[in-house]
Amino acid sequence: MPGPDSGAGESTDGVPMSWDFSTEPEFAAKLDWAREFVRDEIYPLEVLDLDHAEFRRLAAPLQQRVKEQGLWAAHLGPELGGQGYGQLRLGLLHEILGTSELAPFAFGCQAPDSGNIELLALAGTPEQKARWMRPLLDGEVLSAFSMTEQGTGSDPRQFTTTARLVDGQWVLNGGKWFVGNASRADFHIVMAVTEPDAPARARMSMLIVPTDAEGIETREIGLMNDPDHKHPVWSHCEVSYRDVRVPAENLLGDRGEAFTLAQKRLGPGRIHHCMRWIGVCRRAFDMLCERAVSIDVHGGPLADKQTVQNWVADCAAAIESARLLTLHAAWKIDQVGASAARTEIAMIKYHGAAVLHDVIDKAVQVHGSLGFSTDMPLEQMYRWARAARIYDGPDEVHRVSVARRLLREYSPTPTPSEHVPTRRASALERFREQLDVAAVLR
Ligand SMILES: Cc1cc2nc3c(=O)[nH]c(=O)nc-3n(C[C@H](O)[C@H](O)[C@H](O)COP(=O)(O)OP(=O)(O)OC[C@H]3O[C@@H](n4cnc5c(N)ncnc54)[C@H](O)[C@@H]3O)c2cc1C
Repeated sequence: MPGPDSGAGESTDGVPMSWDFSTEPEFAAKLDWAREFVRDEIYPLEVLDLDHAEFRRLAAPLQQRVKEQGLWAAHLGPELGGQGYGQLRLGLLHEILGTSELAPFAFGCQAPDSGNIELLALAGTPEQKARWMRPLLDGEVLSAFSMTEQGTGSDPRQFTTTARLVDGQWVLNGGKWFVGNASRADFHIVMAVTEPDAPARARMSMLIVPTDAEGIETREIGLMNDPDHKHPVWSHCEVSYRDVRVPAENLLGDRGEAFTLAQKRLGPGRIHHCMRWIGVCRRAFDMLCERAVSIDVHGGPLADKQTVQNWVADCAAAIESARLLTLHAAWKIDQVGASAARTEIAMIKYHGAAVLHDVIDKAVQVHGSLGFSTDMPLEQMYRWARAARIYDGPDEVHRVSVARRLLREYSPTPTPSEHVPTRRASALERFREQLDVAAVLR
């Protein structure tokens, strides 16, 4: 039989709903300010080929202006200096920040620092908060989240990096892969097996590891969008930890709690990612439309060709659907928490990544060779968009989890519930009397 109402068509799960797609004027004004600021102050930095140090120097006064507007680290609650906006409003802000890869840094919400601050806020001791979280929050230091191991990233149960408690110190051994900003960070939050005999989800713990500890080696990896690792904001690294010693008090959260904490870190983070992708889509879409109305081919504007019109119409619908899906997931997190919104969060991950890729692809196509060249930002957007299908868990893993959860609402049946002859027999039985009466009347 088909499952209960909470199946594929209903994502509210009993949450009372009031539909309102408007934004309060006060917050809309903040969004207007952010939109103008990103366009006027941050877009110009994109084309200066800045290295990391130069970018940080130029970003510092911008960060100050963001702080003055009360938009710094907006993902945090008021107790940490954020605004406690909730995921829905944050989503709208991230849509604007996503239009430039450099913007989240100026707003104090760039990955992985934003997620690490949330982790420290969630699980840190008062000492850990003062020593590691506060400077991160103030933008004085950088951090890395060191979780993935090569070839097993999608299945954390296979991670082998270990930490053993020896004479009051954790001794860390193992290798991590694709760790964002590991070479630039002041500390890493590392996931390591500390309870080898525990059930799969309780084997790992999180440790705070300062990058000046003995035994850490870091190699920067070239990426499809950054082959020479010159990106002004991020590096991505292979990291080896050999007999790295940190004090026992550098354990973050409880022993065996890493898996649970990582899930909490990733849920709302996906809303921010997806809304940033919508921002990228909008910028690519604007380029697509501008080009379509700007050039003539074979006797008329490109915009008059039906193929291009189809792309414009399809891209607009795809962007809007991904946006609404993401905002709905954000709303649900605000209403009932990230755990109850797992299906929606997973859905936006693979749907958003696909829309991102397709919209940029069409924008490149409409620009022809110009779109393929570095004279337009599209080729860079296209290469970076490819990563969206892999990071934050590959799309396939999210699809599996959505499908599993939805299928759980259904049970096997020897005859399909909608089988017409069976339904007809049942309906005849139920309405026999009325039908007989009708026959008499006829
Ligand atoms: C740009 C970028 C930034 C990143 N930043 C960080 C970071 O800061 N810290 C960090 O720790 N990690 C980071 N990662 C790593 C990221 O988390 C992993 O790449 C991701 O979890 C996938 O793991 P993997 O690359 O080892 O893929 P693998 O586990 O090797 O999987 C390979 C492929 O197998 C397929 N697959 C896997 N599982 C399934 C399944 N259940 N069903 C069907 N197909 C499946 C998928 O197609 C997948 O792409 C980053 C990655 C990228 C690309």
